[in-house]
Amino acid sequence: MPDFGIVIHGGAGAISKYNMTPKLEKAYREGLIESLTSGYKILKDGGGSLEAVQRAVNVMEDIPLFNAGRGAVFTNVGTNEMDAAIMDGATLKAGAVAGVRHIKNPINLARLVMEKSTHVLLSREGAEEFAKIHGVEERPDDYFYTEQRWNQLQTALARENGRDRTELSEGNPDADKKFGTVGAVALDKSGNLAAATSTGGMTNCRYGRIGDSPIIGAGTYANNQTCAVSTTGHGEYFMRAVTAFSVSALMEFRGMGLIQAAETAIFGRLTELGGTGGLIAIDRGGSISLPFNTPGMYRGHFLDGGRPWTAIYKE
Ligand code: ASP
Repeated sequence: MPDFGIVIHGGAGAISKYNMTPKLEKAYREGLIESLTSGYKILKDGGGSLEAVQRAVNVMEDIPLFNAGRGAVFTNVGTNEMDAAIMDGATLKAGAVAGVRHIKNPINLARLVMEKSTHVLLSREGAEEFAKIHGVEERPDDYFYTEQRWNQLQTALARENGRDRTELSEGNPDADKKFGTVGAVALDKSGNLAAATSTGGMTNCRYGRIGDSPIIGAGTYANNQTCAVSTTGHGEYFMRAVTAFSVSALMEFRGMGLIQAAETAIFGRLTELGGTGGLIAIDRGGSISLPFNTPGMYRGHFLDGGRPWTAIYKE
């Protein structure tokens, strides 16, 4: 079993080979490898799993292809609102931010919430005020503008025209390519686990909607006694199924192994509720699992003694 390792995702959804060009696929894979390599290097040099997941997520937050940081999707009113969370499996400490609009790397702010505040989850203007106090890197609105995401919002708005809202919120948002999110989980040489998730949320969402990513136990969870988990997919369902914590709880209270627990969480409760998406997980023994029930999930791992591995579709 590996002594240390990192697993990442760059979002799950209706990723089809039909819409993918070789050039775009190459860009995604290169982004995943850059993220994996940056986290792996920290672990190999004896750094902590928290550092590694934060760094790996930073890389994807800075790449416009992923729905986090720079490539965040647009809300219904044309704003970019980002959520992020990080959790330390050694102490069960966690930090999260929701609905921030000008933070270059929301995962860094989540870590500061964990380390420099007495709270777990800060939101919107309050979170940005906290960011200012701690000198966190900010960016103006246009930094977060990407043509691809803007066009996705226009498509979603056009589809919505003439349709009932209830039907929309319960329909298949994957078809509108509303998702994406990035995440990382890692085990370091000292046996500590950590998880981090960062997202631009859902295209065309309204009313200050917050997804599962910054909700500890839904989209992000880590406990040295069990595993570290980061999810991606239709957040409403992950919140109702408490998916990330479920993996840990199935291990802790049911004695399941990581793979069985992770697959039960995705193909059991989440799928039964009608939710779509996937998760990445690593346990304290270095076992990993990356189940998803969508056509694809950008994902990869880099384990002690191995090589960086990436995949997009089911294979
Ligand atoms: N889970 C995220 C959310 O619902 C989106 C995603 O993972 O694609 O906000």
